[in-house]
Amino acid sequence: MAHRDQWHPETIAVAAGRDAAPGAPLNVPPTFASTYRDGGAIGYGRWGNPAWAAFEDALGALEGGHAVAFACGQAATAAVLGRLAPGAKVIFPFDAYLGTRALLSELASGCQLQLRAVDVTRTEAVLACLPGSALLWLESPTNPMLGIAELPALLEAAKQSGTTSVVDNTFATPLLQRPLAWGATAVVHSATKYLGGHSDLLMGAVITSDKDFHDELVKRRTLQGAVPGVMEAYLCLRGMRTLPVRLARQQATAGLLAARLARHAAVCRVHYPGLSTDLHHDRARKQMDGYGAMVSFEVAGADDADRIVSALRLIVGSTSLGGVETTIERRGRWAGEEHVPPGLLRLSVGLEHPADLWADLEAALSQASAAAT
Ligand SMILES: *Cc1c(COP(=O)(O)O)cnc(C)c1O
Repeated sequence: MAHRDQWHPETIAVAAGRDAAPGAPLNVPPTFASTYRDGGAIGYGRWGNPAWAAFEDALGALEGGHAVAFACGQAATAAVLGRLAPGAKVIFPFDAYLGTRALLSELASGCQLQLRAVDVTRTEAVLACLPGSALLWLESPTNPMLGIAELPALLEAAKQSGTTSVVDNTFATPLLQRPLAWGATAVVHSATKYLGGHSDLLMGAVITSDKDFHDELVKRRTLQGAVPGVMEAYLCLRGMRTLPVRLARQQATAGLLAARLARHAAVCRVHYPGLSTDLHHDRARKQMDGYGAMVSFEVAGADDADRIVSALRLIVGSTSLGGVETTIERRGRWAGEEHVPPGLLRLSVGLEHPADLWADLEAALSQASAAAT
């Protein structure tokens, strides 16, 4: 039988993170313990848990490195950014996840970080900032414009210049791209989204193949206490077992909805890298194993967009993404997202039947355009 290193991601998602001992339960059960009798492997609840270890084993195998589980994506990001020395120069996407940007500016005011906000889809602009930079933070696809950064080239260049590189891989998941293989120092996840996949928990992770970086993150988690809940870790791994089938179906539906939205009279523009007309289609096709299940589309303005969200009956108006439920959000409603077109709606495509989703969207679109005229 093929060794685990040669397994396909679908197999890893099911087979990794298990206890192979005779008589062991098939799934590592959640161990609810703050403390343990002396003489064992863990000792205290903040130092480790079998459910975290199982989750880390599976996610590490999917990304091709060693994972450290955190309480949520923000805790994972904070653990990575906490390594920065005072005055360090940091390159980050001007449209990075809102929480990442907020954390960076808070840190910058405390320890004089030099922040360089860039459009990560413009390779030359990113490369020009690299000399002297301590950290290159990347997201691709970007949120919510779904632009694609040229990750293989950027990560290789960062490696050459001795710059630590981190990719927030929340939108793509390890099924669509594995940044460590392109030379990234680390990958960060909000496991709250696709990995957990059921909108019922918060979790995060950092994955790296650098042993010292890994050990430092574990130390940081222990000292700062950003530990995941035991039940969360158990549920998140349970969700990851079905990630490949969920994502395949969600992505297929996303492609179908994106194509239909692009033909609808009330829609001005669709952002989806899977559309052959998309600005970044060729780049995505070259470097990714799929286009994902996030679709953004623009209507005339904020009022139209809000009317559409209220007219929807099946699709849920809510923030966040990556669950089995299709959700929609006008991103421009948040302070800090002023660069997002006001009429842009971000759709996180779930597992409902595509015909029901399209019927809901089409009805809401025509209702909203009728109200506007
Ligand atoms: C949600 C999200 C985060 C933050 O993760 P939490 O689990 O909410 O703390 C970070 N990055 C991206 C891209 C996200 O979507």
